[in-house]
Amino acid sequence: MYKRIIMKKSVKNIFTPPPVHFVGDGFRVHNFIPGVPEMTMKRMDPFILLDYNSKFYFSPSSVPRGVGIHPHRGFETVSIAYKGKVAHRDSAGNSGVIGEGDVQWMTAASGILHEEFHEKEFSEKGGIFHMVQLWVNLPSKFKMIAPKYQAILNSQMGKYLLPDAGGVVEIISGSYKGIDGPAFTFSPVNLFNVKLLKDKKANISFPKEYNTGLLVIEGKVKVNEKEVAENNFVLFGNDGDEFIIDSIEDSIVLVMSGKPLNEPIAAAGPFVMNTREELIKAYDDYESGKFTL
Ligand code: MN
Repeated sequence: MYKRIIMKKSVKNIFTPPPVHFVGDGFRVHNFIPGVPEMTMKRMDPFILLDYNSKFYFSPSSVPRGVGIHPHRGFETVSIAYKGKVAHRDSAGNSGVIGEGDVQWMTAASGILHEEFHEKEFSEKGGIFHMVQLWVNLPSKFKMIAPKYQAILNSQMGKYLLPDAGGVVEIISGSYKGIDGPAFTFSPVNLFNVKLLKDKKANISFPKEYNTGLLVIEGKVKVNEKEVAENNFVLFGNDGDEFIIDSIEDSIVLVMSGKPLNEPIAAAGPFVMNTREELIKAYDDYESGKFTL
């Protein structure tokens, strides 16, 4: 009889958050990808950037903090709001608010110009801001398609209730135990919020060739028996199928796993293309005013 043996993924490394820097004046971020030496754009392919605004109190301000008009081309930005709200607006007149618990999945593709600010009411009251921005690379053949937005409300996410009233896995994209997330992706990308009560667990499997990591957003957990503190990132080896998250406290863990695109990366500032020529063209197009939706 054949019996399937489930191999654990190795915990390759656990990274403490790198020193913060500000993006504009509204996003106080730890840049894990590509800011931590081992976490290059290639290592976590297709995840090419991870900026993490750990919990931070912003005092009341009548002028919303944020980052003004800037371009993107060649990839997607995924903004996950845990606390606080972000208002966005672009050159074509699209605008909206990313509320607490919600996600904005923006496909910049051939190019957008947008701004990202704290939402007006949040800004006026002040409060704790807690947010992730991930950049997901696009396969070469989709880099120049028309841009689009997916506003993903928390209520629209796939929800898997863990056994033993352990909590919930919110599926933003990809699938977990047969439940799909609502986000459309251009390559296999799994993005989950694993919300565990104290002393509960979740087991998660992805193919070993997928690049896989997790960020402890809140609380404290063990990952394959290794203790991981709040705001730390776990990088898995490409060597097994499964990992287990055991919660030491009530916890929220952002899990990401994607099939690597394995394509050349030519990146500079807000543009991520495949070749240097495409990068130069991106700058030319931007400077000559061709970035409109
Ligand atoms: Mn942006």
